[in-house]
Amino acid sequence: MLVPFEALVLSTREISESDLLINFLSEKRGRFLAVAKGARRSLRRFVNKLEPGHLLRVYLRPGRRGLAPILEAADLVWVPERLRWHPRSFALSAYFLELCERSSPPAEGRELFPLLRDTLSLMERSPWLPWLKPYFEFRLLGLLGWAPEFEVCLSCGLKLSEKSFFSFEKGGAICGACASERDQRLSPKALGLLRSLNRFSLEALPRMILPQNVVREVGHLLESFLLKVLDQDIKALKVLREFGYEPGNR
Ligand SMILES: [Zn+2]
Repeated sequence: MLVPFEALVLSTREISESDLLINFLSEKRGRFLAVAKGARRSLRRFVNKLEPGHLLRVYLRPGRRGLAPILEAADLVWVPERLRWHPRSFALSAYFLELCERSSPPAEGRELFPLLRDTLSLMERSPWLPWLKPYFEFRLLGLLGWAPEFEVCLSCGLKLSEKSFFSFEKGGAICGACASERDQRLSPKALGLLRSLNRFSLEALPRMILPQNVVREVGHLLESFLLKVLDQDIKALKVLREFGYEPGNR
């Protein structure tokens, strides 16, 4: 008997006239691919299910040796309904899905699943939170083992003062004495916010009111740092920018 488990659809791709290749993320298997046979012929068992962002209960049959497993059946567990009516939020959710897909090699990324699932669920309740994108990027960096350091100077180990910088090479803050031209000035407020981010839960975001200029500074920094460590082109980001996205926009 097939043992079902929950998985989020990250993306889908046509692989033949009738079949789809689905990219999933789950707590059980991390990121994995599965083939949905006949899915494009709108077989009843798959109608409206295999869409990015949908949470499914999947039934997998092992594929032939070396090949992706076959998706035998899928039950809808959760669907982002409201998000579809908010194009900018929908583009942001596509960015989150793509980040999870690109940052996780096959069979990895189990720990990203709860963050992605809970973020999509929060977006369904509060479609636009000015602070959500930087927060997601910060949490993702931490889960990928790239959490930036903001307590002491990464060069000399001394406590950071008002005048600190961010080093993209070292992956964290450094003091004025150690900074070079390549490093980016960090305002004291941005540093304070970056230090406290760990203490915020996703659920607290809708209640947080932060100055737009600080969110913008932190948002640009986290996005640039994440793109640097991933070293990949994230297509959904381009779409998001076409919506005029800037960190902190309401
Ligand atoms: Zn230093």
